[in-house]
Amino acid sequence: MFKHLNAVAGDPLLALIVAHMKDTNPNKIDLGVGVYKDDNGHTPILNSVKKAEAILLEKESSKSYLGIYGASEFESTIQDLLLGEDSPIKQAGRIRSSQTPGGTGALKVAADFISANLKGARLWVSDPTWGNHKSIFNSAGIESCDYPYYDPATNGLRFDDMMATLRAEAKAGDVLLVHACCHNPTGIDLQAEHWEVITDFVNERGLLPLVDAAYQGFGDGLDEDLAGLRHMASKVPSMLIANSFSKNFGIYRDRCGGLSIIAETAEEANTAFSIVGQAIRANYSMPPAHGAAVVHTIITNPELKAEWQEEVTAMRNRINGLREKLVSKLKDCGVSKDFSFIKDQRGMFSYSGLTLEQVRTLRSQYSIYIADTGRMSIAGVSDSNIDYLCESIKKVVG
Ligand code: PMP
Repeated sequence: MFKHLNAVAGDPLLALIVAHMKDTNPNKIDLGVGVYKDDNGHTPILNSVKKAEAILLEKESSKSYLGIYGASEFESTIQDLLLGEDSPIKQAGRIRSSQTPGGTGALKVAADFISANLKGARLWVSDPTWGNHKSIFNSAGIESCDYPYYDPATNGLRFDDMMATLRAEAKAGDVLLVHACCHNPTGIDLQAEHWEVITDFVNERGLLPLVDAAYQGFGDGLDEDLAGLRHMASKVPSMLIANSFSKNFGIYRDRCGGLSIIAETAEEANTAFSIVGQAIRANYSMPPAHGAAVVHTIITNPELKAEWQEEVTAMRNRINGLREKLVSKLKDCGVSKDFSFIKDQRGMFSYSGLTLEQVRTLRSQYSIYIADTGRMSIAGVSDSNIDYLCESIKKVVG
């Protein structure tokens, strides 16, 4: 039955993790993996999460099925985090939200919903984008097209080229995927003025925006990071938001996210949401309960919420602090290349501008593991490895 099958190449990032694990060099550094790490290289469980879990252990009284949209009280929690607590869109009933298995689950349900109901819609994604975006949408039968985003010449954003391509090629009814903040993999974010232009264009052309919010709180702040998303939501008739709680609650393996659908009227939102329910039922029937129960317990308990906000702030400050340190240490080492752009990037990742050859040399000669694209996971840098990292980059870059 399976004799004709050929194995597919595994995810190169997972291969990088394995290579790092096998490496016996005591100075080895893993800058590949996309999870937050503390200064000891550990991905901690947040204190607020531990406390919420203790409450749940006491209070939880059933493991019966949840329902396809997850816990009903969680809908409002998702919306408050995304749009703010007094959102007119929420008050008008124009947004409906479902708990999903991570941001990936939200994107998969969105893809199935679009494929079944918005015939002929293509997906526009940034070049580059998170590796799984195209896989998820292509596997739902949706064609994906790239818009220019990263400029290797300046290590910055190609916004004019992005808009020129979209103006020339995007068709009414196409889906435009934008990252809310902390763009993965580049770390280069859209600024307020860009969100305004994109929002106007979405309305002129009749596109459906799909905003992927996987890193709320990791850039400049929980509200600041979604200012662009909120601007867009306030101006467009319809929008999809796929969000993940994996990073900002540190509950990666608990698989918790949300898919929100904004429509022109409450009635339209309810109709679309019922169809989203069909897509969920045919995919995984219903989401896992634990992650959402933790998030909901934290957000509805003022003390835990305050503690969680402090913990997100600490994770964000550590990453942004590392960006500053990296730039200044590289400069102190006398590296010929100007790496100052790293401190303007946001979130867990940085397109470092290192070439494939440089990345491979760092790996083979210095046991420093960076993705072939040059994407570095900044949280993998620590006070104990930053000097070795910068000296090694100096040796390789010159
Ligand atoms: N979108 C982006 C941009 C991501 O980087 C990720 C996670 N790496 C996801 C979605 C999916 O998140 P989750 O792990 O919650 O499925």
